[in-house]
Amino acid sequence: MLKISLDDALLAKLYTVLPDVREVSVEIQATKCIRTSYKNLRPDLVAAIEADAEAYDNLVGLTVLPHAVDKPIDVLIDANYISNDNAWLGTIAHELTHAGHYYQLAMKESLDCYDPLILVTQWSKHWLFQMWSEFHARKNGDTFIQCLLKEGGTAPVLNADWQSDIEEYQKEYATSNTLHKICIYEMMLFLGSISARCDFFPEILDSDTLKKLFSANPRLKRVLTFSQQYDTLETVYPRLDELKQIFFQIE
Ligand SMILES: [Zn+2]
Repeated sequence: MLKISLDDALLAKLYTVLPDVREVSVEIQATKCIRTSYKNLRPDLVAAIEADAEAYDNLVGLTVLPHAVDKPIDVLIDANYISNDNAWLGTIAHELTHAGHYYQLAMKESLDCYDPLILVTQWSKHWLFQMWSEFHARKNGDTFIQCLLKEGGTAPVLNADWQSDIEEYQKEYATSNTLHKICIYEMMLFLGSISARCDFFPEILDSDTLKKLFSANPRLKRVLTFSQQYDTLETVYPRLDELKQIFFQIE
């Protein structure tokens, strides 16, 4: 692993998107194999990591929580992914969002150890928190990339396929096992990315358009609205069970 130090100007830009992360102790490390580095950092979790080996091998970034809350959080980034374009910085913003959320939750619950936030079962409060965090991590990652593009003189671009993206996704979501944990994880990422686009293109992605787009699957729209509305740990924490109920709502 190779420690990466972001320069002050870049950090200042990151903190405009992620103001809460300023207080969190984080080390960013480039690695050739996220799974191996994760095992080295958390040898006590090797069995769980190996059980999900394929999933870890598909990641370009990962937030690794230490055992003790007073130790720094490691953000791992795939060394092959670091390049001149901004995508990897979007991944850094994504992972730092998680780091900030996990730290805040550990403080809120007065934890000494992060493990109750890692070893979770589906539909538990901490799992719902993880899903909520994925939404905001993707949203912040996409927002940060658009900010960097804007600064470089490139106007934000709405992917030409955005409309068919949404339609395709809804079809997929309607046919796959909609309550499977992987499906919900991907749904939160997808909706986080839609939410970032809503902020950049409010005149195109207005509420009427969204309502129409999600008419085939209003549950998606409800999850989107909920996650946009409760965008801080303080506001979402007492309502995580509401998020669970939305997932289970029959159309
Ligand atoms: Zn994530």
